[in-house]
Amino acid sequence: MNGTHLQILRNVFGYSSYRDHQQEIVEGVIKGEDAFVIMPTGGGKSLCYQIPALCRPGVGIVVSPLISLMKDQVDALRSNGVRAAYYNSSLDQKEASRVLAALHNGNLDLLYLAPERLMTDAFLERLNGLEIALFAIDEAHCISQWGHDFRPEYVKLGELRQLFPDVPLIALTATADAHTRSDIIERLSLGEGRQYVAGFDRPNIRYTVLEKRQPFSQLSSFISARPKHEAGIVYALSRKRVEEVAERLRRAGIAAAAYHAGLSDKERSRVHDAFINEEIRVVVGTVAYGMGIDKPNVRFVVHYDLPKNIESFYQESGRAGRDGLPADSLVLFGYGDVAVARSLIENSNNPELVRIETHKLNAMIGFAEALHCRRRILLLYFGEQLEEDCGNCDVCLDPPQRFDATEDAQKALSCVYRVGQRFGAGHIIDVLRGSKSERIKALGHDKLSTYGIGSGKSQEEWGSILHQLVHLGYLYQDISQYSVLRLTAASKPLLLGQERLHLARPRIKMVETKDRRLAAANKIKKEKVSVGTLSADDEVLFQALRELRSQIAREAGVPPYVVFGDVTLVEMAAKRPVTAEDLLSITGVGKSKLGAYGAMFLAEIRKW
Ligand code: ADP
Ligand code: ZN
Repeated sequence: MNGTHLQILRNVFGYSSYRDHQQEIVEGVIKGEDAFVIMPTGGGKSLCYQIPALCRPGVGIVVSPLISLMKDQVDALRSNGVRAAYYNSSLDQKEASRVLAALHNGNLDLLYLAPERLMTDAFLERLNGLEIALFAIDEAHCISQWGHDFRPEYVKLGELRQLFPDVPLIALTATADAHTRSDIIERLSLGEGRQYVAGFDRPNIRYTVLEKRQPFSQLSSFISARPKHEAGIVYALSRKRVEEVAERLRRAGIAAAAYHAGLSDKERSRVHDAFINEEIRVVVGTVAYGMGIDKPNVRFVVHYDLPKNIESFYQESGRAGRDGLPADSLVLFGYGDVAVARSLIENSNNPELVRIETHKLNAMIGFAEALHCRRRILLLYFGEQLEEDCGNCDVCLDPPQRFDATEDAQKALSCVYRVGQRFGAGHIIDVLRGSKSERIKALGHDKLSTYGIGSGKSQEEWGSILHQLVHLGYLYQDISQYSVLRLTAASKPLLLGQERLHLARPRIKMVETKDRRLAAANKIKKEKVSVGTLSADDEVLFQALRELRSQIAREAGVPPYVVFGDVTLVEMAAKRPVTAEDLLSITGVGKSKLGAYGAMFLAEIRKW
């Protein structure tokens, strides 16, 4: 392919400018330098090796861990007129030999394959006689045992640097963890290469945490409040819960399917394909629904149960909004989940592991209980500091309300005292609410003066109060001893009525207004598209364009986003291009797609 990298950016990919870091990386790799690229999901990693592969002579070899990822990438490249192919076990013999022939005849710009395939003697032998533009190693964290997706097949890639000393090597990952990063550098011998670290912020994702009360109805009202076409993922802890939530969503009229490791491979790929092709709207999955979801227009990710740590939360919620348009992350946070998570951790008989996992869980709880900007907390966990509050999380948008909790706190603290400071939160709540359980009777706790004095509040309300008391230092929770609650020096003035206390009212419902959506959308304008700000009229056109896109995609047998992304359709609806030239100025419209679909989209727009 000819042209400067800027021309390729415009003509092939249809983008008017680079994003942060992309240009430096592209220019470095074109010069033949190695690069280690750390960018969050949706940051735009693919261009960083695709454009250099088109500029440098020879074929770019891309290592990718999953067959489904390869196919999507290759479909997308081909629709932009790039000569791309994959070489893996999904090809029949004829197709495979066609790919190899193209490789040997210099008719490929990019070839995707799995690491175990690349590192066979036979394949390396083939490459020896060929001109290679670069090696790109996608999902490079798979090489590290520290990472969350270790794949033994990746280890052998460590030999590439010695085998091909003159070919630039570019490794890419979205992993945030410093240990994994240094592992990648060492294993791939990237010591001399430059590192490019983009920030971890995902400004288009709005974070919200609700206290879990009636989780299913919280979930269904969250989904029902959104436009009908918006797709999302719901994560739940167990297979059973996944099945149950998916079933209830279906009964509520929302096209949903379950995904977990207990289903057959066939069923799992059926669900995934239906999601990608926009035949179902919601996948309810365990964390097994993970890598390989590169659908760019996932509009929301809901955690029905508390994620076990911030790393997993970041990964999972990060599957929303890869296309840069506004997206939501919602966590339903219940104190019952905390107890379950703690007991799971405490089951381990490795004390070091218990210590680390407890620390990580506490950080996750800290995020969920935050009374100031959640994004600050999230980023701080990864060592990044925001200059100001984000303006796009629930706390920023709708600061917590406070109430005078002095009397409630006194009841709770005296109850802790009455039971001898030897019980955890669950038991304290039972006593306060006057539980009739055998255990309470056996202990004689139904005779205490604090028995039943809190019957007017639900279990969850007391849970929230106790947690805040721990958080503010009025109670000490002894993690090393069954999470027993004890009074602290600070609790005395409160118990004696010398101090008043205000606590945050638990957040149960998400407040959503059109204004708020607009404000959030304006805040995150990344490219020139005024995302999420369509007028009612434009919205109707947007839907019509989506319809057209689905039709074209079905006929071509590719996912709709391979035809055009939502960003492109939003911009078309807002700007209403009339000529082919107008259309070319829209993000995501390159020459190849203009030729293939331009007339159809212009005709549709003209109708309006
Ligand atoms: P990653 O692999 O880092 O998750 P992708 O490479 O899939 O991200 O890119 C995410 C999205 O951003 C894609 O929809 C892609 O088309 C878009 N994108 C990437 N670079 C640009 C750019 N310079 N201008 C506009 N859109 C871009
Ligand atoms: Zn915020």
